Amino acid sequence: MRAVVYQGPFEVAVEEVPDPRIEHPNDVLVRVTSTCICGSDLHMYEGRTAAEPGIVFGHENLGVIEEVGSAVTTLREGQRVVMPFNVACGFCRNCEAGKTGFCLTVNPGFAGGAYGYVAMGPYTGGQAQRLRVPYADFNCLVLPEGTEHETDYAMLADIFPTGYHGCELAGVSPGDTVAVYGCGPVGLMAAYSAFLRGASRVYSVDRVPERLRLAEQIGATPVDFTQGDPAQQILDLNGEGTDAGIDAWGTRPTGWRTRSARSRPRC
Ligand SMILES: [Zn+2]
Ligand SMILES: [Zn+2]
Repeated sequence: MRAVVYQGPFEVAVEEVPDPRIEHPNDVLVRVTSTCICGSDLHMYEGRTAAEPGIVFGHENLGVIEEVGSAVTTLREGQRVVMPFNVACGFCRNCEAGKTGFCLTVNPGFAGGAYGYVAMGPYTGGQAQRLRVPYADFNCLVLPEGTEHETDYAMLADIFPTGYHGCELAGVSPGDTVAVYGCGPVGLMAAYSAFLRGASRVYSVDRVPERLRLAEQIGATPVDFTQGDPAQQILDLNGEGTDAGIDAWGTRPTGWRTRSARSRPRC
């Protein structure tokens, strides 16, 4: 099959790689129909990690099941499924506690696994024609059949739940005033999720005009940090700061004060 293969810093190529196959009775094979490039792929792409050439990228994957292992009980061929980016077993101590990002089974010696990511286990990424999904009963979310809402559903692999989880960690509650630092996809989904949770006002901080406009479209108040300290701008706007803050920036520009930030989603 063809796949996006990391060659070295700032270089990837579409290459022929071996087809995935069922390696365990609880695997399924998925024909990938949509996959995203994540901001966290850039850490590998730009050479900031220990990623070795040969890694197939892609942890935000959606597709149609093509083959089902003999021990899979809840899935069948032909179903459209989206996979959370974290590979998890569903039965270890951390998974039982709902902390599936820190699964103790899928990546021995390390808590947590993911598709196509350095140090996150032997799971090939989905920027490819096909993907092996381990512990498939747990890792596949079944979607309505067909091709409708494909790009919306693709966001369920990472971006939307990661943004939502930022709100969860920050304890966003009805009526809260919330600051979201960063208007990339996760930051926008965090702002959107804050409104879903009943926030009365959301301030979205960034420096890219197009991103700030998108934040405004979903109801947030844009704060351009090139115009001055964002925390001070928010204070000037409402006089009392915020109840909760979410760091969705990934890397923080030097000189920032994020005094209301108390959570950082992991993606
Ligand atoms: Zn991602
Ligand atoms: Zn687990």
